[in-house]
Amino acid sequence: MLPDRKGKFGIFGGRFAPETLIGPLEELEREYKKISKKREFREKLNYLLKEYAGRPTPLYFAESFSKQIGFKVYLKREDLAFTGAHKINNTLGQVLLAKMMGKTRIIAETGAGQHGVATATACALLNMECVVYMGEIDLERQKLNVYRMNLLGAKVVPVKSGSKTLKDAINEAMRDWIANFKTTHYVIGSVVGPHPYPMIVRNFQSVIGKETKKQILKKEKKLPDYLIACVGGGSNSIGLFYPFFKYKEVKFIGVEAGGIGLNTDKHAATLSKGEKGILHGSFSYVLQDRYGQIKVTHSVSAGLDYPGVGPEHSFYKEIGRAEYFAVDDKTALEGFHILSELEGIIPALEPSHAIGWLLKNKRRFKKEDIVIVCLSGRGDKDVVEVAKIEGKL
Ligand SMILES: *Cc1c(COP(=O)(O)O)cnc(C)c1O
Repeated sequence: MLPDRKGKFGIFGGRFAPETLIGPLEELEREYKKISKKREFREKLNYLLKEYAGRPTPLYFAESFSKQIGFKVYLKREDLAFTGAHKINNTLGQVLLAKMMGKTRIIAETGAGQHGVATATACALLNMECVVYMGEIDLERQKLNVYRMNLLGAKVVPVKSGSKTLKDAINEAMRDWIANFKTTHYVIGSVVGPHPYPMIVRNFQSVIGKETKKQILKKEKKLPDYLIACVGGGSNSIGLFYPFFKYKEVKFIGVEAGGIGLNTDKHAATLSKGEKGILHGSFSYVLQDRYGQIKVTHSVSAGLDYPGVGPEHSFYKEIGRAEYFAVDDKTALEGFHILSELEGIIPALEPSHAIGWLLKNKRRFKKEDIVIVCLSGRGDKDVVEVAKIEGKL
């Protein structure tokens, strides 16, 4: 079972954190291992996932899209989870964990605001103080999500350092945690960061893959041939993939943000174009310049716009368990439109990358293949942005 005792997935992962964070990280690991086994915790979390977040989410056979593309495609409908994406699976788990650890205060970082809103939601529900760090540029771009977080009772702190975006917000949240860890838990939003975060977030998101397995066995009486998901930090994809890890006949495909193109500097395709390095406490693939400085990334979808990726994905890439590709903004927009038109489902721009990749690569598949795509979120949040890009507003 990975990660190993040092938090490694093969050579990746680990805990590259300042001395002052080692104590809190060790406490978190110890407490997670203890509390996550407790019946009280599991029952409460299952209850919240079901009654509050609306799980299990459907595994929907996309008939028209399948007909168009030439093989069977099922959509795992994380867009139907409460707050409109998979992120709630993780925030409910971590905030409940923190509460049972005796913490009273939650901090988080957010880029576009999706993880901030999901964290603020869990904090409102479970009555925890909530502070969210957000880069000043992101804050300006995502005013509505800032207001949402405020409505939910969270305090949003603007970050003015560095590029004033997500990676700087993460740095600032880590600083807060070092100063306040006695009362405070830091909720990381994806399978990134130092050990034990990639493991904890993966385990909370694995509900996606566990449900999918049951559902597909019921519908098709067999396992799928392919699992496909978009990869930002990598949590919805690993959540889908991980419960299928031991079934070698089930192939995994991760789709990254190719931005304007992989031969430009404007993309976020970390596994396709990055190199091994350390970012936010973990050894993984990283988009960096030749001096090891972190690059500024670009994607039409804010959720994929991150220069790092979870260490478990780097490991899957290294051992050939998964394949990773990138598609550009334009292809993602095609995916966005086709699903809207054929299925009446407006997808978020992030999973639109996975749909777009399928469209472009349909020749790789056979007629009898069963493909499952993680529809990680709904597109309501992106409609204004797409209309602007297309000159319709
Ligand atoms: C945040 C987000 C992502 C990217 O994060 P992962 O950790 O890679 O899953 C993907 N889809 C949606 C809808 C998101 O909100």
